[in-house]
Amino acid sequence: MKSLLKNFGVFFIIFLVIASLFYNLAGSGGKPESAGIRTLIEQINNEEVDGITVAGSILQVKLKSGQEQTVKKETAETLSTLLKNFGVAPEKMAKINIEVREESGLNFWLSTLLPIILPLLLIGLFIYFMARQIQGANGRALMFGQSQAREISNQNQNKKKQITFKDVAGVKEAKEELKEVVEFLTSPKKFLELGANIPKGVLLVGAPGTGKTLLAKAVAGEANVPFFHMSGSEFVEMFVGVGASRVRDLFKRAKKTAPCIVFIDEIDAVGRQRGSGLGGSHDEREQTLNQILVEMDGFEPNTNVIVLAATNRPDVLDPALLRPGRFDRRVVLDEPDINDRTEILKVHSRSKPLAKDVSLRRVAERTPGFSGADLANLLNEAAILAARGNKRLIEMPELFSSIEKVMLGPERKSRVLSEKEKKITAYHEAGHALVTHVLPNTDPVQKISIISRGMAGGYTLKVPLEDKRMHSKQEFLEELSVLLGGYIAEQEIFGDITTGATSDLRAATNLTRRMITDYGMSRNLGPRTFGSREELIFLGRELHEQRDYSEKMAEKIDEEIRHYINEAAERARQVIQTHRPKLEKIVQALLKQETLEKEEFEELVKE
Ligand code: ADP
Ligand code: ZN
Repeated sequence: MKSLLKNFGVFFIIFLVIASLFYNLAGSGGKPESAGIRTLIEQINNEEVDGITVAGSILQVKLKSGQEQTVKKETAETLSTLLKNFGVAPEKMAKINIEVREESGLNFWLSTLLPIILPLLLIGLFIYFMARQIQGANGRALMFGQSQAREISNQNQNKKKQITFKDVAGVKEAKEELKEVVEFLTSPKKFLELGANIPKGVLLVGAPGTGKTLLAKAVAGEANVPFFHMSGSEFVEMFVGVGASRVRDLFKRAKKTAPCIVFIDEIDAVGRQRGSGLGGSHDEREQTLNQILVEMDGFEPNTNVIVLAATNRPDVLDPALLRPGRFDRRVVLDEPDINDRTEILKVHSRSKPLAKDVSLRRVAERTPGFSGADLANLLNEAAILAARGNKRLIEMPELFSSIEKVMLGPERKSRVLSEKEKKITAYHEAGHALVTHVLPNTDPVQKISIISRGMAGGYTLKVPLEDKRMHSKQEFLEELSVLLGGYIAEQEIFGDITTGATSDLRAATNLTRRMITDYGMSRNLGPRTFGSREELIFLGRELHEQRDYSEKMAEKIDEEIRHYINEAAERARQVIQTHRPKLEKIVQALLKQETLEKEEFEELVKE
């Protein structure tokens, strides 16, 4: 808005300049007095006029007194008709020197054309600037249907910044599969000669932050081809038809620059199963999806455009997308295991100075469940911390403290707990830690803290010794006791319960429900699952659970949940009662130093 006003200002000034120019050209320089036609008639009648020079509609009147005047008349009438009309006597006219001068060419044209052209010019300029304004701001209004795809042209980039497979750590299988795609792009002939069809679409499946975008860019980098990036949600606009036309535009651009990679992020935003007819933008999604399919089917066999699409929900995709000739290849990006995490940390610490004693392996040990993006974020936080501490190198403490920051949010030292709250928090966390320590099938305690972080009042970190893909019933049961450890400790010590245990209780309840309804771990409901989770498109995840069991069964499920939770609570209570002295030791240490590292904790609870 501000710049719009500024533009108006500019217009106004241009207008003034042109207008004054016009005025000066039209007038004949100098500054003769101007007068009306009636004055002129009077002067003629009084015989005061010496001569008149006629130039177009301008009369330059020279008086006998030596004064000069300009008088304007209508262009159509000649001076003599005019004077006659006003009843000037012919003798008086004869006494005046009348000279008719041709208007100078420029002057004439300017004075006749400018009044017409100038407004047009101004309007034209105005529209031009407005258009530019709108484009600059949102770019949408006048070019709605064009794709917003960002093209990253590899040829123009300097070699150094180009992303290649070297920049992607871990995900070995995925890289192996995508090497094939690189070959298709670089030497398509080899495949065509043998009659092989070049794949058109590859689906990259993986949790957020596992490097799908990165990998797609790396493929483009390896093959040295342009890369078009577009997100599924960008196709879906308020207006029906816009998405489809963006798809058309994107593919038109891509075909022109073939061979190239088109990357569609979040394909599930447009590619969800059709036909459930819920919500307003449904038609729009359907049209967009259809257009993508049409474009992919329309590739000539030798068009070397390969579409990579990313999703973390392959289960919700429309089957039409997955048919042969479309996204018929699927590459899965696993969550990184400990070795992958070490590699990813290495990749991202290439440009960061690390102290000699830094062991990225130890950081990787403490970060199970972190995605590649989390790890990149962790190193960045550590670098910021080191810079804020005026250090020249990143050291271990910065890395460890960044792990917690990424996991739980920033430390909130400013949120001062009262002595009473501090004591309750200490017992709560000590309860979690003690139960973890005593029960055999749980992960070791990594750190306990009563400094609040993010949403948590205090926290106890447990880290598995190795990455686990499978869990046993016994592990779950003990995990339940650990979750309830804080709650039970509060109850045992203070005879009262605070709101601090809310999220523990919710986690415990959810875990128990899953044990029974998904994993078949109930005592007597048999090896079956309960409820089919069918996602309703616009209602979000797992909101809608379809019951495939009776009311009676529902009661039994509730009964089972109650049983397991109570059992876990009892187990936790026993641990806390029999190891009360250890609990007190932990609490005292926590109250004194607020955080306990793994080693300190193990020293405390040693037999
Ligand atoms: P996605 O598209 O799967 O959500 P991105 O590709 O956008 O994830 O990853 C985000 C960032 O995380 C990347 O830019 C990169 O810095 C980092 N990252 C993720 N996975 C890896 C990996 N395997 N190797 C190196 N860096 C990774
Ligand atoms: Zn807790």
